[in-house]
Order: sequence, then structure tokens, then C-alpha cells
Amino acid sequence: MINQMREIENKIENGSRLNEADALYLFESPDLMRIGALADRVNRRKNQDRIFYNINRHINPTNICALSCKFCAFSRKPGEEGAYAYEIDEMVEKARTAVAQGATELHMVGGLHPRWPFKRYLDMIATMHAEFPGVHLKAFTAVELDWMARRERRSLAEILQDLKNAGLGSLPGGGAEIFHPEIRDEICDTKVSADQWIDTHRLAHSMGLRSNCTMLYGHIERFEHRVDHMRRLRELQDETGGFNVFIPLSFQPNQNDMGIGRYTFGFDDLKTIAVARLYLDNFANIKAYWVMLGQDIAQLGLSFGANDFDGTVTEEKISLMAGGRSGMAMSRADLENLILRAGRTPVERDTLYKPINLEKSLAQVAQGNQSHQASRSHQANRNLPVSRARKMTFAITPHTVVVKLDEMKNLSWANLLTTCQSNSSTPSSNGPCEVILAGMSVVANLMEQAAVDLHAGMTALRAAGVRRLAESPSDARWNTHDKVHRAAHQADLPTTGRLTLRATANGCDWNDFRKQLDRVSDGLRPLGMTAISLGTSPDVGDSGDSGDAHDALSMVVTATEYLHAVSQLRFAAGERATIITSLMDDVPTLAPAMGLGSDGSQHPAQKLVPLLADFGSDDLGLVDPALIKVQRLIEDIRSAGLAADVKFAPESSQTDAGLDLRHKPRDRA
Ligand code: SF4
Repeated sequence: MINQMREIENKIENGSRLNEADALYLFESPDLMRIGALADRVNRRKNQDRIFYNINRHINPTNICALSCKFCAFSRKPGEEGAYAYEIDEMVEKARTAVAQGATELHMVGGLHPRWPFKRYLDMIATMHAEFPGVHLKAFTAVELDWMARRERRSLAEILQDLKNAGLGSLPGGGAEIFHPEIRDEICDTKVSADQWIDTHRLAHSMGLRSNCTMLYGHIERFEHRVDHMRRLRELQDETGGFNVFIPLSFQPNQNDMGIGRYTFGFDDLKTIAVARLYLDNFANIKAYWVMLGQDIAQLGLSFGANDFDGTVTEEKISLMAGGRSGMAMSRADLENLILRAGRTPVERDTLYKPINLEKSLAQVAQGNQSHQASRSHQANRNLPVSRARKMTFAITPHTVVVKLDEMKNLSWANLLTTCQSNSSTPSSNGPCEVILAGMSVVANLMEQAAVDLHAGMTALRAAGVRRLAESPSDARWNTHDKVHRAAHQADLPTTGRLTLRATANGCDWNDFRKQLDRVSDGLRPLGMTAISLGTSPDVGDSGDSGDAHDALSMVVTATEYLHAVSQLRFAAGERATIITSLMDDVPTLAPAMGLGSDGSQHPAQKLVPLLADFGSDDLGLVDPALIKVQRLIEDIRSAGLAADVKFAPESSQTDAGLDLRHKPRDRA
């Protein structure tokens, strides 16, 4: 197995082509970081550090569709609630606003309307082209084109030629789904076959129309089906060279007839991007499609082989109705911000991937700004010797309780002890509860006010059921509490320190973070600290309240930056401390404002879970089963081949789904 990875690396270094067995091996490997680093190297070889985005506008003309693909939440039958069909005038008005805001592309795909004649589609293109002659019209999947040809009883070539004459610029990549008949027959048996899809794109390429291609993954397909799918695309690209970009589309779980109720794993999203970059060696461009991945994973995808972030989009209904929660629009500033903060250079492109204002983009980045410079260190970090955790631990309520002193008013030493005692006493037949006390400054102040010396106070806390003392967000610098840490350890009470990565208007305050890191390696051993948590400021929760996507971006630590900080912290701490990235409190995600899971089906930060382990964290803090589905979280952890270790689960505890939490840790999946 090790040899095969080495062989693959040699092939990549020598510029040799990977075969299907190699691609399958990569999909099956748990070594995401190594594969991602390889994909990143290949991407940089082809595209330097440039990441494309475009200013575009999606318009889905209708969701009325004659077909009923099992995975589709978008389509409606005529007269069904939610069915719509835009008049061409309405589409023109939608486009007019976008073009006034700088859109260079209109992306138009929709359902197979049972009553629309071909002329309607032709008029749509001709009218748009007449109104906006400088704007590229990318429209109609192979599935829609087949529908038009069959209804019109004309050849595909004639249909395509008429559309091209009317102003069609290129084809989008939809409708490919998964080519392998074993899956295609199951999820969309009435749609065009794989061969028809390929033939349509071959024909378009021969007529001078370039196109995109996609792969819908994360449903019932297996890795070998993905490899088969990519093989067919690579073969056509060898033949015609007509594909602009490969776009992996992550399955969206809402309202499908497939009984799949969960988003794809973040680990799998990034692996798929990376394998595509390595296997599809004749593609210049691989897209991290933020609409379906969410902005967090899409931004990370830029370090795993993707060089395209898609565009402003503005109104995309297909994935939105299927559970995509990334909002429908990003501004140019949002896109550039996320790309810069991934340490890359944003370059606007047109539909055919020609840079727009390349010199200006490069000049802007060359001038540099704080966030870009700081983000570059993220890239350097890829070479750090980060050791991957083999298991991911978390505790669950009510078996563990965190008493957050920052949130408690009018507290005295006496009633703190009472609070701890009542929390730790057996709440039911579930056994004793673990109490973690968070807030070192408050604890120290209360003891001082009550004239209790530190050592006696710590002993009293332990007797009251406290099992750990932790720094809270208001404890500004963990080494200012040295005495408290030492006293706790003398009383056999382990402690948790806390570092804070602070967001600024243009990125993160890395100087401040480095100062905190400097103290970790010096302070860890003498203080006897066994864990360090990594928080962010402003607090993660603040981002969701603004309701303004751009505010959210400028005020919050992004996923890429947070993971970078985790690995720096692990590097500083070595193997001497657990690193806690509290899923519910600290792991930053844009999701509350714009991302996946804001519908409550999945915690917004959940896609990042396996990656946290890869970057050096081994503990997800405290999880409330009312907010996070425990079994799903365990699936997330296992998706990366890690064991899930549920702390302090008492004998009788079971999840709703019947998962016995006493089994710990789990074997590698
Ligand atoms: S995926 Fe496309 S063809 Fe299939 S039902 Fe949905 S809109 Fe219709």
C-alpha cells in the first residue's frame, strides 16, 4: 500500500499519467493531507497560485420537468405547488440587474418543460443575446438539448447549430450525474444515457462550442463509479480538448427520493477535488463549487487542487431547493476575500477561463495586504510535521457539564461550590456527572473575596465534583493565570488553557497569535496543563447575527485560517497536550450566515470535523445531543478513518439511533 502511494507520487513528479487503479487507491486512502499536498503541487505547476472566479448570474428558466430523477428536489410537475416558469421578459430583467453589476456570464439551465417548443428556447437565447451582446450565454445541459431535439424531431446538430447562431456561447456541465449504468439506472433512468451525454458534448466541441463537465457524488455510488465517470471524461478531453473545467457536485440531501438525509463528508469533498486534480491531468481547471460545498469547504478546496471558486451566482435554485444553504449570492469582495485568506491570488475570468484584468489582479496582490501576507504562512504550514490524531474525542451532555462562569452573575464562592455540587450530583440513573469549570479569573477572584487560599479552594472544588478547570474566553492570556494552574494541579485538578485567534477587518491578527504560541512551548510543562482549547474572536456565534454576508466574512476567522492555527498550536505543543477545537463553541464557519446546515439538519461546523484531526486537534469539546446528532458526528469522524471516542458516557446511555456510546474507541472504519 505504501509502495503504491510512492509510485503515484513518482508518476506525478515525472509527469506520467495515473491509471484507474491509482485513482481508486487515492479515493480509498485515508491520507488526505498527503494526497492534498500532491494535488496542490500539481495545481500550482499549472496555475501558479491563481484562483479564478467570475461575475455571473444563474437563471433557472423553469422547474417544471417531464422527468423525475430520484435525487432532484428542484423539479415540479405542472400545477404542483412551487412550480414556476419565467417569461423571457422576466429573465431579461433579472439579467439586466446582473449585467449592470458587471456580470460577464449568464448561466441558464432548468427543467424539461413539457409544453415549451424549441422556439421558446431559441427566442430566450436570441433575446438575451440581443439585449446583452457582450455577455457570454452558457445554457442548456445535454439533457435539455436532447429534450429539445426529440420534441422538435430534429437532429442534435441542427438544434445546437440554431442555438449557436442565436448567440449560445457554451454548454454547462449538468446532467452527467454518474455515468456508470449500475448507478445511473437507479437514480435517473429516464435521463440521457452516459453515451448520449458524452456524444452531445463531443458534438458541441466539434462545432466550436466549449463545455463544462460535472460529477454528482456522495449518494449511492462507490469510488469505482467515480473513477469510471472521470475516465470517460478524461478520454473525451483527450479526443477534443473541449472541456473548460471539471466540477465535482456534492449531493444535497433535501427532498430526494433516495432516502439519503445527510450532506457529504468534508473529508470526501476535499479528497474528490484532489483526486480529480491528479487523475484528470488533461484538465486545466478544477472547481470548488461553493454553492454546494459551502464557503468553508470550498475555500479549503483551494489548497487541495482546485483553482476555480465559481462566481457571484446570485440566484441558483437547483441546489438551494435540494438543501444547499450557502445563500444565493457572493459579492466580488466576498470571493476575493476568501481567496486571499486562503493565501492565493484572486483572478477574475470569463466563461472560457480567460483572465480579465490579470495585470490589475496581480498588481493588487503584489502591493500586499495584511491578510494575504498572513495567509501565505498557511501554505508554508503544509510542510510542518503535523501528527494526525488517530481518534477524535468528545464529551456529551448531560454526562459532562461545563459551568461557564463568564455567563453567571452575582456569584459568591459559597454558591459556586453549591452550583458545582448540584451539577455533579447524580441527575438520574445515568451516573455521576463530570463538571468542568470554565473561567480562571472568576474562580481566582471569588477565592480572594472569600479569603480562601488557592490550594484550599482547589481542593474544595474537587470535593464539589469539579473534574477540570478551564480558561474561558474572558481569560485574556493563559499564562497570566500561572498560579491558578499550579494550585489546581497540586489539588489533582487538570487544567485547560485557551488561545484566541483574533479576526481583524482584513484577516487574522497573526502577530498576536504568534505571541500566544511562543508561550505554549515554554509554559506547558511547568504548569502541568493537559489541554489547550483554540477559540476565535469575535466569537463564532457573532457572525450569524449580522445577516450581512460581507460583514460575516470580514469579521470572522475563516476555516482555512483556523485550521492553520490548529496546526501551529499542535506544532508548538507537540504531543504534550490535547488540543480542543470545540465544535459547538469555537470552530469557525461561515455557515450560520451563508453555509450548509443552517437548516438544523447538521451542525454547520460538522463538515470540518475530520480535517480538524488532520491539522492536529484531537478533541471536539462538549457536544449537546439536542443540537448535534451524535451518531452523525461519529460517522463524520469515521469518514476520515478515525476512531470516535465518546468521553464519560455512562453505562446505560444510548443514542436515539441505538448507538451504544460505551464502545470506545472505535476501530478504524
Ligand atoms: S435533474 Fe433535471 S431532468 Fe432530472 S428531474 Fe430534475 S430538472 Fe428534471
